[in-house]
Amino acid sequence: MDKILISACLLGAPVRYDGKGKPLAHPLIDRWRSQGRLVSFCPELAGGFQTPRPPAEIADEATGDAVLAGEGRVIDIDGADVTEMFVEGARRALAMARAERCRYALLIDGSPSCGSLNIYDGRFSGGRHAGRGVTAALLSAHGVEVFAPVDIDRLAARLSLD
Ligand code: SF4
Repeated sequence: MDKILISACLLGAPVRYDGKGKPLAHPLIDRWRSQGRLVSFCPELAGGFQTPRPPAEIADEATGDAVLAGEGRVIDIDGADVTEMFVEGARRALAMARAERCRYALLIDGSPSCGSLNIYDGRFSGGRHAGRGVTAALLSAHGVEVFAPVDIDRLAARLSLD
């Protein structure tokens, strides 16, 4: 059975910067959870952050791919450079995906770690641009297929092909 690495906050775990979760209510989540298919993971906690924590964004409209290439930085709202913790969280997410043999990931969009379709633009004003977060970029680069919640049905279709 193919497993899915899933953002812990999508399962309701209170791991976000604001101390809350962001549960995704969907019958597929219930089904996959009961099948034991879901591997819950929060890259930012794994990278060493606490909850709650200052929000952080990838600066200057860069992307997670740029961060991994050493050409982008992740900065929190107080101006601290937290790039290394984001990269460490991504590395640990990849290690977990490999250990649990996750071919797929379902990650919340917008996050500088988990975003796969779009991410916040670094201005802390709610604006987004197209691009992936650091964890989504690293997983994708190593063959883990990453889906955003809006594409959950497309992920389900991929599973049914296996
Ligand atoms: Fe959720 Fe991912 Fe942010 Fe953790 S890093 S709180 S799993 S969006």
